Amino acid sequence: MKDSFRHKGLRKQLVQHLASKGIKNIDVLSAINSIPRHLFLDTAFVNFAYQDKAFPIGSGQTISQPYTVAFQSQLLDLNPYDKVLEVGTGSGYQAAVLTLLDADVYTIERQRDLFNKSKFFLPKLGYNCRFVYGDGYKGLPKLAPFNKIIITCGAPCIPADLVAQLKVGGRMVAPIGEGDIQVMHLIEKLSETETRITTHGEFSFVPMLNDKNNGVE
Ligand code: SAH
Repeated sequence: MKDSFRHKGLRKQLVQHLASKGIKNIDVLSAINSIPRHLFLDTAFVNFAYQDKAFPIGSGQTISQPYTVAFQSQLLDLNPYDKVLEVGTGSGYQAAVLTLLDADVYTIERQRDLFNKSKFFLPKLGYNCRFVYGDGYKGLPKLAPFNKIIITCGAPCIPADLVAQLKVGGRMVAPIGEGDIQVMHLIEKLSETETRITTHGEFSFVPMLNDKNNGVE
C-alpha cells in the first residue's frame, strides 16, 4: 500500500482542521502532514484514516484521535534530542510523530501483538525508535531519567514511578481518570521533590492496565 496524492490531500485537510481547533506548533502539524496515518490502520478503515477520529487497531485497543496526538505532542513541548518515554505504543503512530520531532523515543507496550507489529512496521517506514514489551506503570528505570514522558492510555492516578523517572525540568503529559473520560494533566518536575500540576481539558482513552498481557485479559 502506498501514499497517494489523494492521501496527501486528505492529510493536508486534516492538518488545517487541527490548526482550526487550536494546534499551533508548526513542527507538530508538519509531522502529522508527513506521516501516512492510513498505513497504521487495518485496511478496513483506510478510507477513514484522515478523519479526526480514533479507530480500532486490534487487541481491543485504538489509535488515538489525531487531535489528541497533536494536543499531547504540543503540550510535551519537545526540544530536539529530548529523551522521551511513551507509555502505550499501540499502532505506533504517536511514536512516529515524536520521532519525526527529533526526539530520542522509547515506547513501551503491554500487548505482545501490538508490540510485535509496531517494532516491525515503524522501522520499515523509516521511524527509528526503541520498542519495549513491558508494563508502562513501572517505566524503564534503567534508562531513566527522561526529559519527557507521555502516557497514551487513561491512568487512574499519576504513576509515582514515572514521576521518579522524569528529569528535573522535565514534563509528563498524562490523561488521568477512570471510566470513559480522562482529564489531561501536565506534570512539570521543578526539583527532586516538587512538581507543578496543571489540567488541560477532557479526553477519552482506553484504560492503562497493570502488568504485561500475554494473550489472556
Ligand atoms: N499511542 C498509541 C495509542 C494506543 S491506545 C497510538 O498512537 O496508536 C493505548 C495503548 O496503551 C494500548 O495499546 C494499550 O495496550 C497500552 N497500554 C495500556 N496499559 C499499558 C501499560 N501498563 N503499559 C504499556 N502499555 C499499556
